[in-house]
Amino acid sequence: MIAQTYKEQLYPTLKKYFGYDTFRSQQEDIITHVLNKEDVLVIMPTGGGKSICYQLPSLLLEGTTLVISPLIALMKDQVDGLKANGIAAAYFNSSQSSEEQQEIIKQVYERQLKLLYVAPESLSALSDILKPIYFNCIAIDEAHCISSWGHDFRPSYQQLGFLKKTFSETPIIALTATADKATRQDIVKQLNIPHAQQFISSFDRKNIEIEVRPATNRVAQILQFVEKREGESGIIYCLSRKGTETLAEKLQNKGIEATAYHAGLNFEQRSKVQEDFIFDKTKVVCATVAFGMGIDKSNVRYVIHYNMPKNLEGYYQEIGRAGRDGLPSHALLFHTYADVIQLRRFTEGASNEELQNAKLDRMTQFSEATDCRRKILLGYFGELLAENCGNCDVCKNPPEFFNGTVIAQKLLSSIARLKEAAPAGVVIDVLRGAQNQVILEKNYQQLKTYGIGSDISWRDWQHYLTQLINQGYCEIAFHLHNSLQLTAFSKKVLFEKEKVFLTKPQSLKEQKEKQQKA
Ligand code: ADP
Ligand code: ZN
Repeated sequence: MIAQTYKEQLYPTLKKYFGYDTFRSQQEDIITHVLNKEDVLVIMPTGGGKSICYQLPSLLLEGTTLVISPLIALMKDQVDGLKANGIAAAYFNSSQSSEEQQEIIKQVYERQLKLLYVAPESLSALSDILKPIYFNCIAIDEAHCISSWGHDFRPSYQQLGFLKKTFSETPIIALTATADKATRQDIVKQLNIPHAQQFISSFDRKNIEIEVRPATNRVAQILQFVEKREGESGIIYCLSRKGTETLAEKLQNKGIEATAYHAGLNFEQRSKVQEDFIFDKTKVVCATVAFGMGIDKSNVRYVIHYNMPKNLEGYYQEIGRAGRDGLPSHALLFHTYADVIQLRRFTEGASNEELQNAKLDRMTQFSEATDCRRKILLGYFGELLAENCGNCDVCKNPPEFFNGTVIAQKLLSSIARLKEAAPAGVVIDVLRGAQNQVILEKNYQQLKTYGIGSDISWRDWQHYLTQLINQGYCEIAFHLHNSLQLTAFSKKVLFEKEKVFLTKPQSLKEQKEKQQKA
């Protein structure tokens, strides 16, 4: 059990060095485990207060805490922040001269430091001080980077398994803001801490309103959205560098000060965009996912996804940059199958292609959900929400279902007549009786299903198709030129009179009204 002396010092230490009177949810419990020399895995959302979980024990224990962190760019800030609070801290990484590095090693030997931040790739340069036991605890920040199951795999993290083998007596505290169950298991396995107690904090960020819209006229929709929020800070995530620039330019042309940010900019340019954003000089940043890691800005009011992220971990992390101050904020995601197809193309041939595609499927299901989106999102992270959230578009505007069996039959039999070899666009063209080159060349006017769906607009067909895919009645064969294919369930609809329920598409008018309100 934790020594009584420690227990009595917990709160005074929290007050003295960090200025807080109380711990947040699980902090005290986690700290107690570390003080008991037990390994722990902490899953806590960004801004949840992970740092104190290893910083505070170090102040109570003798010796130094080794902090492994991949964010070299942030180490200096972190260390400066600690020093400002009167905590002896230093960092060690490849950006330093060898004199600076020697000085830090000396400080560790002389036991002057409470915390030493090191990038994983710099660990080997520290092998001398790693042998004798100087460390009271080893903290591994952004621990999901060790797992190729996670979304931000870093090879340099894979060597970290040696730490537990070398320092078997030293507790390891692994921390991350994003890890689904498979990733968590992989983390404890690779770090050799199979018995680590796992602390999983609530991921629910109630103040963030979640909304998904079809990606029609994205730019116009974004303009309207941003204009309604004049003077407020927001991030718009795009898939490509080019995309960020094009969008920023379009917004600028409409009088909105927007800046592009991506990894293709040089260091100064990137720093400038970040600083202007943090100090409210730039309100809107159109960025790739390179933007945001480590940006501590509490009043980001909205995050828009111009393109769909490749998985829910990424999505959750990105929308989590909104509303850190707890005030109402908005996450808006645009959804289109074009993005799904594009993202599939990226995973083609990757070693973990299957896994990435499974994650993309979950992302797609979330985008097309007809149930509370927050429930689905939190469920993905293993958290069950007892009730619908009331703060997502589905909760606010529950879809109405109708008997769409005939619509489904028309669509599925069209797929069958096209021998499951045509992509969505052609299937819809056939249904609508279009007369374009493909149709004429391939003689599709002869098909029995040609023109049987001309009473339904192209857009509405897309809406129905999305739902049929979602409900498993047909699927896109990404490896066969994105052709639409039937599934085992299709038969039930085509031959066994199974009823299909679909939601009504919103009319353009309704959509506009809704957007006006939002
Ligand atoms: P994370 O690493 O989980 O993203 P941080 O450790 O940077 O989060 O903490 C986020 C913010 O919350 C910081 O400003 C920190 O000072 C604050 N914080 C942490 N613990 C507490 C607490 N017990 N009471 C109040 N504020 C806290
Ligand atoms: Zn909801």
